[in-house]
Amino acid sequence: MTHVSIKSLTKTYPGAPKPALDRLSLEIPSGDLTALLGPSGCGKTTTMKMIAGLLDPTSGDVTFDGRSILRDKPEKRGVVMVFQNHLLFPYMTVADNVGFGLKMRKVAKPEIDARVAEMLALVQLPDLGRRRPSELSGGQQQRVALARALIVRPNVLLLDEPLSNLDAHLRFEMRDLIRALQRDMGITTIFVTHDQEEAVVLADRVALILDGSLCQYAPADVFYKRPADEAVARFFGGHNFIPGNSTAGTFHSTLPPLRLPDDARTGSGKLTFRPESVRIGAAPENTLTTRVIDRIYLGTQTRLRLSSGDNVIEAVLSPDLVEGLQPGADIEINLPRQSLWVLE
Ligand code: ATP
Repeated sequence: MTHVSIKSLTKTYPGAPKPALDRLSLEIPSGDLTALLGPSGCGKTTTMKMIAGLLDPTSGDVTFDGRSILRDKPEKRGVVMVFQNHLLFPYMTVADNVGFGLKMRKVAKPEIDARVAEMLALVQLPDLGRRRPSELSGGQQQRVALARALIVRPNVLLLDEPLSNLDAHLRFEMRDLIRALQRDMGITTIFVTHDQEEAVVLADRVALILDGSLCQYAPADVFYKRPADEAVARFFGGHNFIPGNSTAGTFHSTLPPLRLPDDARTGSGKLTFRPESVRIGAAPENTLTTRVIDRIYLGTQTRLRLSSGDNVIEAVLSPDLVEGLQPGADIEINLPRQSLWVLE
């Protein structure tokens, strides 16, 4: 079990006008699964490489259980990194691939064989040890790569986009497998992804990084309910941002006054709420009369754009609730108080 602290970690590549990663600080509890989430080029891989020892930081520190690891050679850090293109050795059998790290550590053959068999059973590939990687599906290769990383019982596991390249069904299987293995073995795990859904389904906590800077570090649901700012809310698919003023538990704007939750901030700001939190019909509070601008059928959901005065409100609703509702129709909606949040 390893507590990882990342302290003001900064990397400026030679000749670059600004840091690729700017003063990133994260406390990752022992055994936790943290996602570094952000668009391409935001600094995720740079962070992973500094933890793994493949890249020197410009400033800042990384500690494992309170001890700085920056002077340790990569192989002494107890970190393993699983790359997206999993890089199995093509000429070795699956079993030899999985046992490779133990062979390098000069572990005795019978112990290697026993631990390889155990690992292959854990990743649910018990009978495939004799095959070559080319004889496996992409999902199976990914599980072999995971087994090869975990067999050395690392202190910290780094995963690069672990669920991408998998179809929907395999994504859930792989997610459950990673979670189960990581929990059972108590390995502190950090993974990078640009995919918000991948971060949400897999991580205990998500660190959203935009343009080299940390925007918010919190459990996944907080990003939906209590985003730190508009950029965070937009990254997570938020659409509704209404400027106004929050006083005494009420939001005043060009919409009718809306009652706010107790923890909402006061002062001027933007009201935000998730499209999926909009309810059809009148309620004792926060009811608005709106007009349908347009609707898009998405299969399991329907997305509506509604106008209220000059404001456009996006709502995502179950298709059967809005069946037959045409553009131009007037409908009442309500915004549950707990779903509202005021951004600075
Ligand atoms: P992706 O999701 O595309 O892998 P990322 O979030 O992992 O992106 P990084 O690879 O960490 O992003 O890159 C962050 C920034 O640093 C980018 O602007 C990139 O161009 C720059 N960068 C990365 N490696 C180097 C390098 N060796 N020399 C100079 N600049 C680099």
